[in-house]
Amino acid sequence: MKKPKPSLRVSVETLPQEGMDMTVALPAAHFPLLRQMTSEGECRFDGTVSVSARLTHREQMVAVTGSVETAAGMRCGRCLGGYEASVSASFSLLYSPRPDTDTEARSEIVHVDGDELGLYFFDGDEIDLTDAVQEQILLSLPMQPLCREDCRGICPGCGADRNRETCFCGKPAGTGPFAALANLNLKDEP
Ligand SMILES: [Zn+2]
Ligand SMILES: [Zn+2]
Repeated sequence: MKKPKPSLRVSVETLPQEGMDMTVALPAAHFPLLRQMTSEGECRFDGTVSVSARLTHREQMVAVTGSVETAAGMRCGRCLGGYEASVSASFSLLYSPRPDTDTEARSEIVHVDGDELGLYFFDGDEIDLTDAVQEQILLSLPMQPLCREDCRGICPGCGADRNRETCFCGKPAGTGPFAALANLNLKDEP
C-alpha cells in the first residue's frame, strides 16, 4: 500500500465533530499561482510549503485557522541582487457550501462572532485549501523586497554596488574613475 499523497483536500463529511489538526508539507510546484510566478520570473518558489491548520465545524461551514511558511527567491529593490526571503502568514478562513443562486460568488471577507474571516466556497463534500494557501503566500510577499534591512543599494551616480565596493561619487573631484562624470552634475561650486 502506498502512503496517501500529502494533500490540502479535506472531506467535510469525515471531519470529526471536535475538529481536526492538519500539518502538510508540499512542494511549491503544487500551487498553480506559485508555479506561474516562478515561470514568469517575478519571484522563485522552489522550496517546500508547510501548512499547519485547525479545522472545525461551524454549522454548515468549516472554519480553518492556521499558518503557512515557505521561502521565495526575490530580487532586492535596491541592489537588484537575488536573495531568499522567508515568507510566513497566519490565516482565518471560513468555508461555506457554494450557494446555488450565486455561482459567480468569489471569496470575500466576512465577520463572524467578531472574527474577520476570509470566505471561500466549496463544492460537494470537499474543501481544498490550495487556493487560500497560495493567496496567503502572495499576500505576505514583501512589497519592497530588500536583501537586508540596511542594503545600501546601487549608487545612482556611478552604478557601483555600495554593499561590495567603495563608491567614489562622494569623494573630492579627481580621486575616482568616475570623478569626471560626477563633476558634470556640480553647479556653481566655489
Ligand atoms: Zn540589496
Ligand atoms: Zn557612486
